[in-house]
Amino acid sequence: MSVTLADWNGEVMPLEDVKVSVLDRGFLFGDGIYEALRVYGGKPFLLREHMDRLKRSLKEVSIDADVDAFEKRTLNLLAKSGIKEGLIYQQVTRGVYPRVHKYPPKGTKPNELVWVKEFTETPFAEFRESGAAVVTVPDLRWKRCDIKSINLLGNCMAAEAAAQAGCQEALLIAEDGSIVEGSHTSAFGVKDGRVWTMPLGPNILPGITRALVLKLANRANIEVIERSLLKSELGQIDELFLTGTTSEVLPVTKVDGHGVGTGKAGPVTLRLVAEYQKEIDELVRS
Ligand code: PLP
Repeated sequence: MSVTLADWNGEVMPLEDVKVSVLDRGFLFGDGIYEALRVYGGKPFLLREHMDRLKRSLKEVSIDADVDAFEKRTLNLLAKSGIKEGLIYQQVTRGVYPRVHKYPPKGTKPNELVWVKEFTETPFAEFRESGAAVVTVPDLRWKRCDIKSINLLGNCMAAEAAAQAGCQEALLIAEDGSIVEGSHTSAFGVKDGRVWTMPLGPNILPGITRALVLKLANRANIEVIERSLLKSELGQIDELFLTGTTSEVLPVTKVDGHGVGTGKAGPVTLRLVAEYQKEIDELVRS
């Protein structure tokens, strides 16, 4: 196994050598923001979109970090790592300060971490054709899921419930019965050739993959309806799929043990899988 390289506040070192204070607010409160990006052919995919979302999340929680400098360090680290198929993880916390709930004084230095690791065996690749199985769980998270906070306990609980059930992902269900998103994916239904997905709002993460897939659907003349899909409507839909940086476009063929549609990855989903792959191929060729 090769060493995973990290940039910790501007210093490049093996990830295992990074040491962080127990007074870091990320450690104590989950007071921080993160991003995860795929690297294909040595190039970061959708870099601009991820950096814009990082800036927005940091602004929403008033963490004052220099994202442009952070982006440069990220690209330098990627180049230094020589990694072609990889995953970049970025995290910015509010920094180290004696434990109080309110924010520390202005000028407290955020802690900035990036690592780049090989990502050749995607955990979802084998389900791209057969389709993944998911479970439904109540959405227990807070009311600002549009902020990409490192405070992910609700998501971890949902992902663990999926793992315990032998499934690949959990669908989070709101109190009104709507399918909100996955524990680390955006969710889409297909009915009569139209794609349905939850509109953006404080209850979901504005997924970068979601946005690209909506653009690709548009380009392919696939109609998109941004409206929530109810769990009770699952029996009537033709296809279900998830999107995310690591899962890409992932067909779902089973929910809580019941087949979706024909029980196989459907034509609209497979078209979007293909269109997404074309975008990756284009990046690699560019
Ligand atoms: N929804 C949640 C809760 C997530 O954590 C993620 C990714 O981590 C996504 C959706 C997918 O977002 P993206 O496509 O930007 O990876």
